[in-house]
Amino acid sequence: MEKTLIILKPDAFQKRKVGATIDRFEQAGFKIVGAKLTKLSSAKLREHYAHIADKPFFPEIEDFMSSRSVLVMALQGKGVIDRVRSLVGPTNSMQAAAGTIRGDWGTDVMHNIVHASDSPESAAAELKRFFAEGEVY
Ligand code: ADP
Repeated sequence: MEKTLIILKPDAFQKRKVGATIDRFEQAGFKIVGAKLTKLSSAKLREHYAHIADKPFFPEIEDFMSSRSVLVMALQGKGVIDRVRSLVGPTNSMQAAAGTIRGDWGTDVMHNIVHASDSPESAAAELKRFFAEGEVY
């Protein structure tokens, strides 16, 4: 069964939307198969965001993402990768439709509540990045 990697970002905690965000995933029928609270190191963030690590705004992302602990989760279900991306909405919260997680609770392009893998290839790499063998059930 397909799996995806979710990160509940620091703004989800600051706005107390962790439970509500998880509820959206559960109500959509997805199963939580892995979860851990962790603080993201600079090395981990550079690896995870390698595709934007050379952008001028990356130091800001690094500060934001390491500002407090985050909840990393593995979700499982049919078509979970694309369906979760639809529930989450586009990167820029200002352009995200009402009813999407980012549209309802995100602030801007950086403070957008949640990360979700965008393809089977990234999901596989990201699950491996954050969960050791035996930590996904
Ligand atoms: P997504 O998270 O939707 O897959 P990206 O992989 O492009 O989007 O970007 C990763 C994260 O970096 C975004 O979720 C957002 O928090 C931040 N980000 C992306 N673009 C910008 C930007 N122009 N300014 C500030 N932060 C950004």
